[in-house]
Amino acid sequence: MNASSLSRPTSITQLIVSSLLSPGDTAIDATAGNGHDTLLLCQLVGDQGKVYAFDVQPEALENTRIRLKENGVDASVYELLCMNHKEMDHLEMNPPRVIMFNLGYLPGGDPSLITQSNETLEAIEKAGKLLSLQGALTVMCYPGHTGGDIEAQRVQSLLSSWDGANWKIAKYELLNTLKPAPFLLCAYKMK
Ligand code: SAH
Repeated sequence: MNASSLSRPTSITQLIVSSLLSPGDTAIDATAGNGHDTLLLCQLVGDQGKVYAFDVQPEALENTRIRLKENGVDASVYELLCMNHKEMDHLEMNPPRVIMFNLGYLPGGDPSLITQSNETLEAIEKAGKLLSLQGALTVMCYPGHTGGDIEAQRVQSLLSSWDGANWKIAKYELLNTLKPAPFLLCAYKMK
């Protein structure tokens, strides 16, 4: 990877999840979108692992399904769920080592259908409980679009309030670029 690709917050997310996940692990993509993150998670957990991908738009799940199929991912590895991510605790699963959120709207889809901050916060609280020890919750925030600014602030306040003995919370943001810039929040679960 060269420096210009590495500098993006989304690349840092990929580095983090690639470092944490091993074959056989369980992971969640809370916002499948066009399936780029779901594909990465499936490749990292391998044929013995499990990835649960959530989206409320059937179009997004269909795009994800096509991407996974085109990349030869075995259908036993993933479950594509047309479900609100705030209901992720309704499923039976092994504790996920990684849970990814990519907020905002479906790229190429309807930009008025965005993640809603109340739901996002509820889902993040649940994700924190589900996550395995030594796992990470990653949240890509987009303060640059309408509604995204408040959502990004609320997610940052919530994660900043998590107990420092149990969690390490980090932020990655490009500083010398047009504001407001997208940023990554990462919550590492210690105990
Ligand atoms: N902005 C990102 C992509 C975000 S995609 C980028 O540019 O890469 C966000 C996805 O979250 C969309 O496909 C949307 O349908 C989905 N979504 C919105 N609210 C949701 C919810 N409550 N539960 C699950 N998925 C949701």
